[in-house]
Amino acid sequence: MTRSLDGKVAVITGAGSGIGRGIALRLAEDRAAIAVWDLNPDGAAETVRMVEDAGGKAIAITVDCSDRAAIRAAADATRSTLGPITILVNNAGIAPFTPFADIEEEEFDRVIRVNLKGPWLVTKEIVPDMLAAGWGRIINITSSSTQSGSFAQSHYVASKGGLLGLTKALALELGKTGITANMIPPGSIDTPMLRGAPIDAEAYGASLPVDRLGKVADIAAAAAFLASDEAGYMTGQTISTNGGRYMGSA
Ligand code: NAP
Repeated sequence: MTRSLDGKVAVITGAGSGIGRGIALRLAEDRAAIAVWDLNPDGAAETVRMVEDAGGKAIAITVDCSDRAAIRAAADATRSTLGPITILVNNAGIAPFTPFADIEEEEFDRVIRVNLKGPWLVTKEIVPDMLAAGWGRIINITSSSTQSGSFAQSHYVASKGGLLGLTKALALELGKTGITANMIPPGSIDTPMLRGAPIDAEAYGASLPVDRLGKVADIAAAAAFLASDEAGYMTGQTISTNGGRYMGSA
């Protein structure tokens, strides 16, 4: 058994920044060809440049991962350039902070659309490639806030909780097909999203059992394991990569 992803094609949504970029670099190191799907063309191009500088193969695709037609076009472009897609990391997300009483319906709908319906749409588009290959890896980036709650993020926590449920349902339904579905709920990882949040990131990191903020490489290591052949007996599971923030099960 090998951990090499040689010959495999991975779509990583939101890989133009932060955690997604870290996962792109790590899976490319393990020799997967990477499709960087992101709203932000400059960020996506920068990730591709970083992968190529490290000797890997990647393409950038500008796409709103909550728009069905755009997702279909992105998948077709990925297939025609790199081949069938058998690794999917649903990572793109938004995380506004708004007190419960102040969240308007439009904001709630937007968070659910990007963080929950988007992964559902992207997975629906890509699973047929995995079924045809008899092998697939779905890795959903949820959030430790779904395990513990998070102040002024009721819509975000609900969206990631939905993604948790989706992951387990997919694991059950696809179990016999060679496709696994697992999730990584990050704790506080040092990314532009975290730095934009209304919290004192350094103080928060120092309050954790491991005494630091997480790095994107911490999440990427968990993703690399879940993407590998070695993880084939793991499905519907949670790798809580959170510095000890939350110690319960999923
Ligand atoms: P980030 O630095 O903001 O990166 C997210 C990337 O996703 C950005 O490039 C963003 O583009 C893109 N994106 C947003 N909406 C998109 C859409 N509809 N279609 C395509 N791309 C989209 O965030 P991050 O910290 O790496 O977070 C990655 C994931 O981890 C998110 O799902 C987040 O909820 C989860 N997470 C993060 C932490 C943490 O501590 N950082 C903790 C728990 C969970 P734009 O910049 O153009 O919006």
